[in-house]
Amino acid sequence: MLRGGHLIGGQWRSGADRFCTRSPSDLNEEVGEYPAGSPRDAEDALEAARKALPGWSTYNTQARSDLLRKTAEVITARAEEIGTHLAREEGKTRREAIAETLRAAQVFFYYAGEVVRHPGQFFNSLRDGHHIIVSYEPVGVISLITPWNFPIAVPAWKVAGALAYGNTCVLKPSEFAPGCAVILGQILTEVGLPPGVFNLVHGQGRVLGETLIGGANGVSFTGSTPTGRAIVKQAANTLTKVQLELGGKNPLIVLDDADLDLAVDVALQGTFGQTGQRCTGSERLIITRGIHDAFVEKLVARVASLRVGHALHEDTQIGPVATAAQLEKNLTFIQRATEAGAELAVGGARLEKSTPGYYLAPTLFLGTTADTPLNREEIFGPVAGVIRVNDLEEAITVANDCELALSSGICTTNIRSAERFRRLSRAGLVMINAPTAGLEYHVPFGGRSPSGYGGREQGPASAEFFTEIKTAYVNHGDI
Ligand code: NAD
Repeated sequence: MLRGGHLIGGQWRSGADRFCTRSPSDLNEEVGEYPAGSPRDAEDALEAARKALPGWSTYNTQARSDLLRKTAEVITARAEEIGTHLAREEGKTRREAIAETLRAAQVFFYYAGEVVRHPGQFFNSLRDGHHIIVSYEPVGVISLITPWNFPIAVPAWKVAGALAYGNTCVLKPSEFAPGCAVILGQILTEVGLPPGVFNLVHGQGRVLGETLIGGANGVSFTGSTPTGRAIVKQAANTLTKVQLELGGKNPLIVLDDADLDLAVDVALQGTFGQTGQRCTGSERLIITRGIHDAFVEKLVARVASLRVGHALHEDTQIGPVATAAQLEKNLTFIQRATEAGAELAVGGARLEKSTPGYYLAPTLFLGTTADTPLNREEIFGPVAGVIRVNDLEEAITVANDCELALSSGICTTNIRSAERFRRLSRAGLVMINAPTAGLEYHVPFGGRSPSGYGGREQGPASAEFFTEIKTAYVNHGDI
Protein backbone atom coordinates (compact mmCIF):
# COMPACT_ATOMS: atom_id res chain seq x y z
CA MET A 1 0.00 0.00 0.00
CA LEU A 2 1.23 3.51 -0.82
CA ARG A 3 1.49 5.80 2.21
CA GLY A 4 1.52 9.31 0.84
CA GLY A 5 2.05 12.67 2.47
CA HIS A 6 1.79 16.34 1.67
CA LEU A 7 4.98 17.70 0.12
CA ILE A 8 5.60 21.21 1.42
CA GLY A 9 8.84 23.12 0.93
CA GLY A 10 10.69 19.90 0.13
CA GLN A 11 9.50 18.10 3.30
CA TRP A 12 7.00 15.26 3.40
CA ARG A 13 4.34 15.96 5.97
CA SER A 14 1.79 13.62 7.49
CA GLY A 15 -1.38 14.43 9.44
CA ALA A 16 -3.53 12.87 12.13
CA ASP A 17 -6.60 12.86 9.92
CA ARG A 18 -6.02 10.35 7.10
CA PHE A 19 -8.08 8.73 4.36
CA CYS A 20 -7.71 5.52 2.36
CA THR A 21 -8.38 4.68 -1.26
CA ARG A 22 -9.70 1.27 -2.28
CA SER A 23 -9.41 -0.48 -5.60
CA PRO A 24 -12.64 -0.18 -7.61
CA SER A 25 -11.71 -3.62 -9.02
CA ASP A 26 -11.62 -5.15 -5.52
CA LEU A 27 -13.14 -3.13 -2.73
CA ASN A 28 -11.41 -5.34 -0.15
CA GLU A 29 -8.05 -3.96 -1.28
CA GLU A 30 -6.71 -0.74 0.22
CA VAL A 31 -4.42 0.97 -2.30
CA GLY A 32 -3.22 4.12 -0.61
CA GLU A 33 -3.39 6.17 2.57
CA TYR A 34 -3.04 9.95 2.58
CA PRO A 35 -3.42 12.86 4.99
CA ALA A 36 -6.67 14.83 4.74
CA GLY A 37 -5.25 18.34 4.48
CA SER A 38 -6.52 21.43 6.28
CA PRO A 39 -6.56 25.03 5.04
CA ARG A 40 -3.44 25.46 7.18
CA ASP A 41 -1.61 22.80 5.13
CA ALA A 42 -2.71 24.54 1.93
CA GLU A 43 -1.50 27.92 3.22
CA ASP A 44 1.86 26.41 4.21
CA ALA A 45 2.21 24.93 0.72
CA LEU A 46 1.40 28.29 -0.89
CA GLU A 47 3.90 30.02 1.37
CA ALA A 48 6.60 27.51 0.39
CA ALA A 49 5.78 28.16 -3.28
CA ARG A 50 6.00 31.95 -2.74
CA LYS A 51 9.42 31.59 -1.10
CA ALA A 52 10.70 29.42 -3.96
CA LEU A 53 9.40 31.73 -6.69
CA PRO A 54 12.27 34.26 -6.99
CA GLY A 55 14.84 31.45 -7.32
CA TRP A 56 12.83 29.37 -9.79
CA SER A 57 11.66 32.21 -12.01
CA THR A 58 15.31 33.15 -12.61
CA TYR A 59 16.66 29.59 -12.62
CA ASN A 60 19.14 28.84 -15.37
CA THR A 61 17.22 27.97 -18.54
CA GLN A 62 19.31 24.92 -19.43
CA ALA A 63 19.13 23.60 -15.86
CA ARG A 64 15.34 24.05 -15.80
CA SER A 65 15.02 22.20 -19.09
CA ASP A 66 17.30 19.42 -17.79
CA LEU A 67 15.13 18.94 -14.68
CA LEU A 68 12.00 18.49 -16.78
CA ARG A 69 13.80 16.09 -19.12
CA LYS A 70 15.13 14.03 -16.20
CA THR A 71 11.61 13.86 -14.76
CA ALA A 72 10.39 12.53 -18.10
CA GLU A 73 13.17 9.92 -18.13
CA VAL A 74 12.37 8.66 -14.64
CA ILE A 75 8.62 8.51 -15.37
CA THR A 76 9.40 6.50 -18.52
CA ALA A 77 11.66 4.12 -16.60
CA ARG A 78 9.00 3.63 -13.90
CA ALA A 79 6.00 3.52 -16.25
CA GLU A 80 5.00 -0.08 -15.46
CA GLU A 81 5.10 0.50 -11.70
CA ILE A 82 3.27 3.85 -11.89
CA GLY A 83 0.74 2.48 -14.36
CA THR A 84 0.05 -0.51 -12.12
CA HIS A 85 -0.61 1.77 -9.15
CA LEU A 86 -2.84 3.96 -11.31
CA ALA A 87 -4.86 0.98 -12.60
CA ARG A 88 -5.26 -0.33 -9.07
CA GLU A 89 -6.41 2.99 -7.62
CA GLU A 90 -8.51 4.45 -10.48
CA GLY A 91 -9.66 1.27 -12.21
CA LYS A 92 -8.69 1.81 -15.86
CA THR A 93 -6.95 -1.20 -17.39
CA ARG A 94 -3.23 -1.62 -16.76
CA ARG A 95 -2.57 -1.16 -20.48
CA GLU A 96 -4.49 2.13 -20.50
CA ALA A 97 -2.76 3.23 -17.30
CA ILE A 98 0.75 2.55 -18.60
CA ALA A 99 -0.09 4.42 -21.81
CA GLU A 100 -1.30 7.37 -19.73
CA THR A 101 1.93 7.29 -17.71
CA LEU A 102 4.03 7.32 -20.86
CA ARG A 103 1.96 10.26 -22.09
CA ALA A 104 2.82 12.08 -18.86
CA ALA A 105 6.51 11.44 -19.61
CA GLN A 106 6.11 12.77 -23.16
CA VAL A 107 4.54 15.92 -21.76
CA PHE A 108 7.58 16.52 -19.55
CA PHE A 109 9.86 15.92 -22.56
CA TYR A 110 7.83 18.43 -24.57
CA TYR A 111 8.06 21.14 -21.92
CA ALA A 112 11.79 20.50 -21.48
CA GLY A 113 12.02 21.77 -25.07
CA GLU A 114 9.55 24.60 -24.56
CA VAL A 115 11.73 26.02 -21.75
CA VAL A 116 14.49 26.60 -24.29
CA ARG A 117 12.22 27.74 -27.13
CA HIS A 118 10.20 30.21 -25.01
CA PRO A 119 10.29 33.40 -27.14
CA GLY A 120 9.69 37.12 -26.69
CA GLN A 121 8.90 39.76 -29.33
CA PHE A 122 10.70 42.82 -30.63
CA PHE A 123 8.78 45.75 -32.16
CA ASN A 124 9.97 48.88 -33.86
CA SER A 125 8.66 51.92 -32.01
CA LEU A 126 6.63 54.69 -33.66
CA ARG A 127 9.08 57.12 -32.04
CA ASP A 128 12.62 57.77 -33.20
CA GLY A 129 15.33 56.34 -30.95
CA HIS A 130 12.97 53.87 -29.26
CA HIS A 131 12.09 50.20 -29.55
CA ILE A 132 9.66 47.91 -27.75
CA ILE A 133 10.29 44.51 -26.18
CA VAL A 134 7.44 42.19 -25.25
CA SER A 135 8.42 39.49 -22.79
CA TYR A 136 6.43 36.65 -21.21
CA GLU A 137 6.99 36.33 -17.49
CA PRO A 138 5.84 33.77 -14.93
CA VAL A 139 2.43 34.42 -13.38
CA GLY A 140 3.73 33.46 -9.92
CA VAL A 141 2.31 30.78 -7.62
CA ILE A 142 -0.19 28.51 -9.37
CA SER A 143 -2.69 26.20 -7.67
CA LEU A 144 -3.34 23.11 -9.76
CA ILE A 145 -6.54 21.20 -8.96
CA THR A 146 -7.07 17.90 -10.78
CA PRO A 147 -9.67 15.14 -11.24
CA TRP A 148 -9.43 11.37 -10.71
CA ASN A 149 -9.84 10.18 -14.29
CA PHE A 150 -6.33 11.01 -15.57
CA PRO A 151 -4.39 11.06 -12.29
CA ILE A 152 -0.91 11.23 -13.86
CA ALA A 153 -1.51 12.86 -17.28
CA VAL A 154 -3.52 15.87 -16.10
CA PRO A 155 -1.14 16.69 -13.20
CA ALA A 156 1.77 16.25 -15.65
CA TRP A 157 0.50 18.72 -18.21
CA LYS A 158 -0.32 21.28 -15.54
CA VAL A 159 2.86 20.84 -13.46
CA ALA A 160 5.24 20.69 -16.44
CA GLY A 161 3.58 23.75 -18.04
CA ALA A 162 3.64 25.76 -14.82
CA LEU A 163 7.29 24.93 -14.08
CA ALA A 164 8.50 25.37 -17.66
CA TYR A 165 7.49 29.03 -17.68
CA GLY A 166 9.04 29.77 -14.28
CA ASN A 167 6.04 29.46 -11.96
CA THR A 168 6.00 27.55 -8.70
CA CYS A 169 2.98 25.46 -7.83
CA VAL A 170 0.78 23.64 -5.37
CA LEU A 171 -0.94 20.52 -6.71
CA LYS A 172 -4.15 19.26 -5.14
CA PRO A 173 -5.02 15.94 -6.78
CA SER A 174 -8.39 14.24 -6.57
CA GLU A 175 -9.00 12.57 -3.24
CA PHE A 176 -10.16 9.48 -5.19
CA ALA A 177 -6.80 8.81 -6.90
CA PRO A 178 -3.95 10.81 -5.30
CA GLY A 179 -1.21 8.16 -5.51
CA CYS A 180 0.29 9.19 -8.85
CA ALA A 181 0.71 12.75 -7.58
CA VAL A 182 2.71 11.38 -4.63
CA ILE A 183 4.94 9.41 -7.01
CA LEU A 184 5.35 12.52 -9.17
CA GLY A 185 6.41 14.45 -6.05
CA GLN A 186 8.96 11.74 -5.23
CA ILE A 187 10.38 11.90 -8.75
CA LEU A 188 10.59 15.70 -8.86
CA THR A 189 12.43 15.61 -5.52
CA GLU A 190 14.75 12.82 -6.70
CA VAL A 191 15.79 14.65 -9.87
CA GLY A 192 16.75 17.70 -7.79
CA LEU A 193 13.93 20.22 -8.17
CA PRO A 194 14.59 22.92 -5.56
CA PRO A 195 12.37 22.67 -2.45
CA GLY A 196 9.10 24.58 -2.65
CA VAL A 197 8.96 24.77 -6.45
CA PHE A 198 6.47 21.88 -6.51
CA ASN A 199 4.21 21.35 -3.50
CA LEU A 200 1.48 18.81 -2.92
CA VAL A 201 -1.52 18.83 -0.60
CA HIS A 202 -4.21 16.19 -0.28
CA GLY A 203 -7.80 16.40 0.76
CA GLN A 204 -11.21 17.58 -0.21
CA GLY A 205 -11.59 20.43 -2.64
CA ARG A 206 -14.36 22.08 -0.67
CA VAL A 207 -12.04 22.21 2.41
CA LEU A 208 -8.90 23.41 0.62
CA GLY A 209 -10.38 25.28 -2.34
CA GLU A 210 -10.88 28.70 -0.80
CA THR A 211 -7.27 28.87 0.44
CA LEU A 212 -5.80 27.46 -2.77
CA ILE A 213 -7.74 29.92 -4.94
CA GLY A 214 -7.44 33.03 -2.78
CA GLY A 215 -3.73 32.58 -2.03
CA ALA A 216 -2.43 31.90 -5.54
CA ASN A 217 -1.72 34.13 -8.53
CA GLY A 218 -3.38 31.61 -10.84
CA VAL A 219 -5.54 28.49 -10.68
CA SER A 220 -5.55 25.80 -13.33
CA PHE A 221 -8.44 23.44 -12.74
CA THR A 222 -9.71 20.30 -14.47
CA GLY A 223 -12.93 18.77 -13.26
CA SER A 224 -16.68 19.04 -13.47
CA THR A 225 -18.54 22.09 -14.72
CA PRO A 226 -20.37 22.71 -11.38
CA THR A 227 -17.04 22.76 -9.48
CA GLY A 228 -15.62 25.03 -12.18
CA ARG A 229 -18.44 27.52 -11.64
CA ALA A 230 -17.75 27.53 -7.88
CA ILE A 231 -14.06 28.18 -8.53
CA VAL A 232 -14.74 31.15 -10.84
CA LYS A 233 -17.03 32.72 -8.23
CA GLN A 234 -14.34 32.36 -5.60
CA ALA A 235 -11.57 33.60 -7.89
CA ALA A 236 -13.61 36.74 -8.58
CA ASN A 237 -13.06 37.86 -4.98
CA THR A 238 -9.29 38.03 -5.41
CA LEU A 239 -9.23 38.39 -9.24
CA THR A 240 -7.07 35.28 -9.36
CA LYS A 241 -6.28 34.25 -12.94
CA VAL A 242 -8.29 31.12 -13.80
CA GLN A 243 -8.12 28.38 -16.40
CA LEU A 244 -10.80 25.68 -16.35
CA GLU A 245 -11.09 22.42 -18.30
CA LEU A 246 -14.57 21.05 -17.64
CA GLY A 247 -17.14 18.49 -18.67
CA GLY A 248 -18.20 17.30 -22.12
CA LYS A 249 -21.23 15.73 -23.79
CA ASN A 250 -19.53 14.93 -27.03
CA PRO A 251 -21.40 14.04 -30.24
CA LEU A 252 -20.13 11.63 -32.87
CA ILE A 253 -21.94 11.86 -36.24
CA VAL A 254 -21.89 8.93 -38.67
CA LEU A 255 -23.11 9.75 -42.18
CA ASP A 256 -24.49 7.33 -44.78
CA ASP A 257 -21.25 7.55 -46.79
CA ALA A 258 -18.98 6.64 -43.84
CA ASP A 259 -16.60 3.69 -43.92
CA LEU A 260 -18.79 1.46 -41.74
CA ASP A 261 -16.04 -0.57 -40.04
CA LEU A 262 -13.99 2.53 -39.30
CA ALA A 263 -17.06 4.30 -37.89
CA VAL A 264 -17.81 1.36 -35.58
CA ASP A 265 -14.18 1.34 -34.35
CA VAL A 266 -14.26 5.11 -33.81
CA ALA A 267 -17.52 4.88 -31.84
CA LEU A 268 -16.37 1.91 -29.77
CA GLN A 269 -13.07 3.50 -28.78
CA GLY A 270 -14.48 6.98 -28.22
CA THR A 271 -17.46 5.81 -26.18
CA PHE A 272 -16.18 2.91 -24.10
CA GLY A 273 -12.38 3.34 -23.89
CA GLN A 274 -11.22 4.04 -20.32
CA THR A 275 -14.66 2.89 -19.13
CA GLY A 276 -16.17 5.97 -20.79
CA GLN A 277 -14.67 8.15 -18.06
CA ARG A 278 -13.14 10.75 -20.35
CA CYS A 279 -14.27 14.33 -20.70
CA THR A 280 -13.85 13.81 -24.47
CA GLY A 281 -15.78 10.50 -24.62
CA SER A 282 -18.57 10.16 -27.23
CA GLU A 283 -21.83 10.03 -25.29
CA ARG A 284 -24.16 10.97 -28.19
CA LEU A 285 -24.01 8.88 -31.37
CA ILE A 286 -25.88 10.72 -34.15
CA ILE A 287 -26.45 8.38 -37.09
CA THR A 288 -28.11 9.13 -40.44
CA ARG A 289 -30.97 6.93 -41.61
CA GLY A 290 -29.26 5.03 -44.44
CA ILE A 291 -26.43 3.59 -42.32
CA HIS A 292 -28.25 3.49 -38.96
CA ASP A 293 -29.32 -0.18 -38.87
CA ALA A 294 -26.06 -1.60 -40.22
CA PHE A 295 -24.01 0.60 -37.86
CA VAL A 296 -26.11 -0.29 -34.82
CA GLU A 297 -25.99 -4.01 -35.57
CA LYS A 298 -22.19 -4.03 -35.78
CA LEU A 299 -21.67 -1.71 -32.83
CA VAL A 300 -24.02 -3.62 -30.52
CA ALA A 301 -22.22 -6.88 -31.34
CA ARG A 302 -18.84 -5.30 -30.57
CA VAL A 303 -20.09 -3.72 -27.32
CA ALA A 304 -21.61 -7.02 -26.18
CA SER A 305 -18.26 -8.75 -26.70
CA LEU A 306 -16.21 -6.26 -24.62
CA ARG A 307 -14.59 -7.99 -21.64
CA VAL A 308 -15.29 -6.06 -18.44
CA GLY A 309 -13.06 -7.04 -15.55
CA HIS A 310 -10.37 -6.36 -12.96
CA ALA A 311 -8.07 -3.53 -14.05
CA LEU A 312 -4.97 -5.69 -13.54
CA HIS A 313 -6.14 -8.75 -15.49
CA GLU A 314 -4.42 -8.98 -18.85
CA ASP A 315 -7.55 -9.85 -20.83
CA THR A 316 -9.69 -7.03 -19.42
CA GLN A 317 -10.79 -4.48 -22.02
CA ILE A 318 -13.01 -2.33 -19.79
CA GLY A 319 -12.13 -1.72 -16.15
CA PRO A 320 -14.65 -0.95 -13.41
CA VAL A 321 -16.24 2.44 -12.87
CA ALA A 322 -13.96 4.46 -10.58
CA THR A 323 -16.16 5.36 -7.62
CA ALA A 324 -19.39 4.39 -5.90
CA ALA A 325 -20.88 7.81 -6.67
CA GLN A 326 -20.01 7.48 -10.34
CA LEU A 327 -21.58 4.00 -10.53
CA GLU A 328 -24.72 5.33 -8.86
CA LYS A 329 -24.86 8.21 -11.35
CA ASN A 330 -24.52 5.83 -14.33
CA LEU A 331 -27.28 3.57 -13.02
CA THR A 332 -29.56 6.56 -12.45
CA PHE A 333 -29.08 7.72 -16.06
CA ILE A 334 -29.82 4.17 -17.26
CA GLN A 335 -33.01 4.06 -15.22
CA ARG A 336 -34.16 7.49 -16.43
CA ALA A 337 -33.48 6.56 -20.07
CA THR A 338 -35.53 3.37 -19.70
CA GLU A 339 -38.38 5.31 -18.08
CA ALA A 340 -38.23 7.84 -20.92
CA GLY A 341 -38.88 5.01 -23.41
CA ALA A 342 -35.38 4.55 -24.86
CA GLU A 343 -34.65 1.04 -26.15
CA LEU A 344 -31.85 -0.73 -24.27
CA ALA A 345 -29.75 -2.45 -26.96
CA VAL A 346 -26.98 -3.84 -24.79
CA GLY A 347 -25.74 -3.65 -21.18
CA GLY A 348 -27.70 -1.66 -18.65
CA ALA A 349 -26.77 -3.46 -15.43
CA ARG A 350 -24.13 -3.85 -12.77
CA LEU A 351 -21.96 -6.97 -13.18
CA GLU A 352 -20.77 -9.47 -10.57
CA LYS A 353 -17.13 -10.57 -10.83
CA SER A 354 -14.87 -12.74 -8.70
CA THR A 355 -13.86 -9.67 -6.65
CA PRO A 356 -16.31 -7.07 -5.32
CA GLY A 357 -16.05 -3.96 -7.50
CA TYR A 358 -17.93 -1.26 -9.40
CA TYR A 359 -18.39 -3.26 -12.61
CA LEU A 360 -20.92 -1.98 -15.12
CA ALA A 361 -21.83 -3.52 -18.47
CA PRO A 362 -21.11 -1.12 -21.36
CA THR A 363 -24.52 0.26 -22.25
CA LEU A 364 -26.12 1.54 -25.44
CA PHE A 365 -29.62 2.94 -25.87
CA LEU A 366 -31.38 3.23 -29.23
CA GLY A 367 -34.29 5.42 -30.30
CA THR A 368 -33.18 8.36 -28.19
CA THR A 369 -33.67 12.00 -29.16
CA ALA A 370 -31.78 15.18 -28.44
CA ASP A 371 -34.18 15.74 -25.53
CA THR A 372 -33.82 12.35 -23.82
CA PRO A 373 -32.22 13.12 -20.40
CA LEU A 374 -29.43 10.69 -21.31
CA ASN A 375 -28.39 13.08 -24.09
CA ARG A 376 -28.53 16.36 -22.16
CA GLU A 377 -26.08 16.03 -19.25
CA GLU A 378 -22.62 14.55 -18.96
CA ILE A 379 -22.78 10.93 -17.71
CA PHE A 380 -19.03 10.22 -17.58
CA GLY A 381 -19.37 6.46 -17.87
CA PRO A 382 -19.70 3.61 -20.38
CA VAL A 383 -23.21 4.65 -21.38
CA ALA A 384 -24.36 6.32 -24.62
CA GLY A 385 -27.47 7.07 -26.63
CA VAL A 386 -28.00 6.62 -30.38
CA ILE A 387 -29.99 9.37 -32.14
CA ARG A 388 -31.29 8.67 -35.65
CA VAL A 389 -31.34 11.70 -38.00
CA ASN A 390 -32.18 12.34 -41.66
CA ASP A 391 -29.11 14.08 -43.00
CA LEU A 392 -25.95 16.11 -42.32
CA GLU A 393 -27.82 19.33 -41.57
CA GLU A 394 -30.04 17.70 -38.94
CA ALA A 395 -27.00 15.90 -37.52
CA ILE A 396 -25.14 19.20 -37.07
CA THR A 397 -28.18 20.82 -35.44
CA VAL A 398 -28.51 17.92 -32.98
CA ALA A 399 -24.74 17.86 -32.31
CA ASN A 400 -24.79 21.55 -31.42
CA ASP A 401 -28.00 21.28 -29.39
CA CYS A 402 -26.16 20.90 -26.10
CA GLU A 403 -24.66 23.43 -23.74
CA LEU A 404 -21.38 21.55 -23.32
CA ALA A 405 -18.95 22.02 -26.21
CA LEU A 406 -15.69 20.18 -25.63
CA SER A 407 -15.14 17.60 -28.39
CA SER A 408 -17.09 16.40 -31.43
CA GLY A 409 -16.58 14.04 -34.33
CA ILE A 410 -17.83 12.98 -37.72
CA CYS A 411 -17.32 9.84 -39.81
CA THR A 412 -17.74 10.49 -43.52
CA THR A 413 -15.89 9.94 -46.79
CA ASN A 414 -17.21 13.23 -48.19
CA ILE A 415 -14.73 16.05 -47.72
CA ARG A 416 -17.40 18.71 -48.10
CA SER A 417 -19.47 17.19 -45.27
CA ALA A 418 -16.37 16.90 -43.09
CA GLU A 419 -15.39 20.51 -43.75
CA ARG A 420 -18.92 21.79 -43.18
CA PHE A 421 -19.01 20.03 -39.81
CA ARG A 422 -15.54 21.25 -38.87
CA ARG A 423 -16.70 24.81 -39.50
CA LEU A 424 -20.13 24.60 -37.85
CA SER A 425 -19.39 22.47 -34.79
CA ARG A 426 -19.50 24.54 -31.59
CA ALA A 427 -16.96 22.27 -29.88
CA GLY A 428 -13.35 23.25 -29.19
CA LEU A 429 -12.12 19.95 -30.67
CA VAL A 430 -13.31 18.41 -33.95
CA MET A 431 -12.34 14.90 -35.06
CA ILE A 432 -12.77 13.73 -38.64
CA ASN A 433 -12.89 9.91 -38.93
CA ALA A 434 -11.20 9.65 -35.51
CA PRO A 435 -12.51 9.13 -31.96
CA THR A 436 -13.66 12.22 -30.05
CA ALA A 437 -11.16 11.19 -27.36
CA GLY A 438 -7.42 10.66 -27.81
CA LEU A 439 -5.52 13.90 -28.10
CA GLU A 440 -1.98 15.03 -28.69
CA TYR A 441 0.07 17.12 -26.28
CA HIS A 442 1.69 19.58 -28.69
CA VAL A 443 -1.52 21.32 -29.83
CA PRO A 444 -4.13 23.34 -27.92
CA PHE A 445 -6.71 21.33 -25.97
CA GLY A 446 -10.04 22.42 -24.55
CA GLY A 447 -13.63 23.45 -25.12
CA ARG A 448 -15.88 26.46 -25.25
CA SER A 449 -17.72 27.62 -22.16
CA PRO A 450 -19.23 25.86 -20.25
CA SER A 451 -16.79 23.06 -21.18
CA GLY A 452 -13.81 25.33 -20.73
CA TYR A 453 -12.99 28.81 -19.53
CA GLY A 454 -9.97 31.08 -19.42
CA GLY A 455 -7.77 29.79 -22.23
CA ARG A 456 -6.65 26.46 -23.60
CA GLU A 457 -4.15 24.01 -22.17
CA GLN A 458 -1.24 22.23 -23.86
CA GLY A 459 0.84 23.01 -26.89
CA PRO A 460 1.70 26.65 -27.52
CA ALA A 461 -1.61 27.70 -25.90
CA SER A 462 -0.41 26.78 -22.41
CA ALA A 463 2.06 29.68 -22.41
CA GLU A 464 -0.92 32.05 -22.60
CA PHE A 465 -2.14 30.95 -19.19
CA PHE A 466 1.18 30.30 -17.48
CA THR A 467 2.75 33.65 -18.42
CA GLU A 468 2.01 37.34 -18.03
CA ILE A 469 2.90 39.79 -20.78
CA LYS A 470 5.27 42.66 -20.11
CA THR A 471 5.63 45.41 -22.72
CA ALA A 472 8.79 47.45 -22.27
CA TYR A 473 9.43 50.76 -24.15
CA VAL A 474 13.12 51.47 -24.52
CA ASN A 475 14.43 54.96 -25.34
CA HIS A 476 17.98 54.23 -26.44
CA GLY A 477 18.45 57.58 -28.21
CA ASP A 478 20.49 57.97 -31.38
CA ILE A 479 22.75 55.03 -32.13
P1 NAD B 1 -14.74 17.31 -9.56
O1 NAD B 1 -15.14 18.64 -10.08
O2 NAD B 1 -15.65 16.63 -8.60
O3 NAD B 1 -13.33 17.40 -8.81
C1 NAD B 1 -12.16 17.85 -9.45
C2 NAD B 1 -11.20 18.39 -8.42
O4 NAD B 1 -11.78 19.55 -7.82
C3 NAD B 1 -10.90 17.43 -7.26
O5 NAD B 1 -9.53 17.54 -6.92
C4 NAD B 1 -11.77 17.96 -6.14
O6 NAD B 1 -11.28 17.67 -4.86
C5 NAD B 1 -11.71 19.45 -6.41
N1 NAD B 1 -12.81 20.25 -5.85
C6 NAD B 1 -14.06 19.86 -5.55
N2 NAD B 1 -14.76 20.91 -5.05
C7 NAD B 1 -13.94 21.97 -5.04
C8 NAD B 1 -14.07 23.34 -4.64
N3 NAD B 1 -15.20 23.81 -4.15
N4 NAD B 1 -12.99 24.14 -4.78
C9 NAD B 1 -11.84 23.69 -5.28
N5 NAD B 1 -11.65 22.41 -5.67
C10 NAD B 1 -12.69 21.55 -5.56
O7 NAD B 1 -14.46 16.38 -10.83
P2 NAD B 1 -14.07 14.83 -10.85
O8 NAD B 1 -15.29 14.03 -10.50
O9 NAD B 1 -12.81 14.60 -10.10
O10 NAD B 1 -13.71 14.63 -12.40
C11 NAD B 1 -14.67 14.36 -13.38
C12 NAD B 1 -15.00 15.62 -14.15
O11 NAD B 1 -13.82 16.16 -14.70
C13 NAD B 1 -15.91 15.36 -15.35
O12 NAD B 1 -16.89 16.37 -15.41
C14 NAD B 1 -14.97 15.46 -16.54
O13 NAD B 1 -15.59 15.83 -17.75
C15 NAD B 1 -14.02 16.49 -16.07
N6 NAD B 1 -12.76 16.40 -16.80
C16 NAD B 1 -12.48 17.37 -17.71
C17 NAD B 1 -11.30 17.30 -18.45
C18 NAD B 1 -10.96 18.36 -19.45
O14 NAD B 1 -9.79 18.49 -19.76
N7 NAD B 1 -11.92 19.12 -19.96
C19 NAD B 1 -10.40 16.25 -18.24
C20 NAD B 1 -10.70 15.29 -17.30
C21 NAD B 1 -11.89 15.38 -16.57
